Amino acid sequence: MKRNILISGGGIAGLTAAKLLSSQGHDVTVIDKAPSFTKAGFLISLKSFGVKIMDELGMTENLLHESSPSEYAAFMEANERVIQKISYEEMNKNTERSVLISRGGLHHVLFENIKDEVKVLLNTTISQAVQQGDTTRVTLSDGTAVTADLVIIAEGLRSPTREQYFKNCKLEDFNTIYMGGKLKFLHGYTVGSFKIYIDVNKMLSIYPIAPDEIALQCYIQEAGTSSTGRPNANELLANSFKGYSEGVQDLLKRFIAEGLMFVDKMGMINAPDLVNGHLVLLGDAGYCPTALSGMGASLSIYGAKAPAHFISKTPENLTLACKNYNTLMQPLIQKFQGNARKNAASFIPKSEERLHQFVHAFRSASDDDLQKIMTDPIILTEEQLSFKIG
Ligand SMILES: Cc1cc2nc3c(=O)[nH]c(=O)nc-3n(C[C@H](O)[C@H](O)[C@H](O)COP(=O)(O)OP(=O)(O)OC[C@H]3O[C@@H](n4cnc5c(N)ncnc54)[C@H](O)[C@@H]3O)c2cc1C
Repeated sequence: MKRNILISGGGIAGLTAAKLLSSQGHDVTVIDKAPSFTKAGFLISLKSFGVKIMDELGMTENLLHESSPSEYAAFMEANERVIQKISYEEMNKNTERSVLISRGGLHHVLFENIKDEVKVLLNTTISQAVQQGDTTRVTLSDGTAVTADLVIIAEGLRSPTREQYFKNCKLEDFNTIYMGGKLKFLHGYTVGSFKIYIDVNKMLSIYPIAPDEIALQCYIQEAGTSSTGRPNANELLANSFKGYSEGVQDLLKRFIAEGLMFVDKMGMINAPDLVNGHLVLLGDAGYCPTALSGMGASLSIYGAKAPAHFISKTPENLTLACKNYNTLMQPLIQKFQGNARKNAASFIPKSEERLHQFVHAFRSASDDDLQKIMTDPIILTEEQLSFKIG
């Protein structure tokens, strides 16, 4: 049964859903508030089932083409002492390989794949959505009216449509600013070997992605900033890593002068129900697990596969398909959001004592323990991978 499906938000989740649903023969339209799409953005490590689904969708080759080399991640103390050095090859032994790629690069791969199959309207948002029986009448920002059997809201963490139509959602604030960017210059760091500095209330990651390109990402915990408040990012970055090595200081100065590209506040959504009638929350809009879970993109891709799966199982009954989607996702959301909270406590310790405990435990972990620490939080059970519920 062919359905009219409107997807608001053509990001990672929205485009994956568009791909899967249009492949099933549904009439899919994607709208996005952005005037254009770019490849820019922060680096993500797409892992585990996210890579597996991209493979199933036939996009691995393009994904690898857009990716950056990743060999080692060294967790460091501020004084340059290594806490643990983890090999990606070792870590990948228990999961699908992980792929280091910019969010924009991953988005580009998805967009190139669907752009000839699916209608994408840029510069467009939902002004109003009125549910009437089994259909939803949507007024778009350009004044046009569309009728949809299903409206998927995949607008990212700060989704205004969620705010309007899902009143029980709460934004959990991590009081953590994240910022970063990319710079082109001959830097001298080893390509594919990353440094992640763990310190009290902050974490700094340096990613040499080519001999002449380097990315930096950092998370700084700050009490007392409002959820929309933007502190002066340059000042915060300069002040936060003052005692670090000369090499780190020089790098930070370069980023402050010419390389900072994004600054935002970390948060995650707690949505008791991802479904309201035939409006469905997908991706960060419904269950952002934050950058600290390291699994947001994978969960967006998996979450996009879930409604497509359930609609194909009960094509006559969209209400049941939506309900099954919510039932499947809630325990997974608990798991990944729980991991994000744990990671926040470990990787951004709140006191010298916590930092010391983390450094000691991580440094003395056996290889087996380390494998478990790194891979357990990123896998799903066979049942979950095949969308079995109840
Ligand atoms: C610093 C950082 C590091 C990360 N690292 C990782 C990692 O290592 N591994 C990982 O798996 N994940 C990581 N993530 C998380 C991952 O990037 C997100 O979970 C993922 O991008 C979410 O996809 P999405 O499609 O839900 O939202 P987005 O990718 O944010 O896309 C939302 C889309 O909706 C559009 N939009 C917004 N508002 C509207 C509106 N009103 N109407 C229409 N369109 C709208 C936007 O323009 C955008 O195109 C990281 C995130 C950050 C911030």
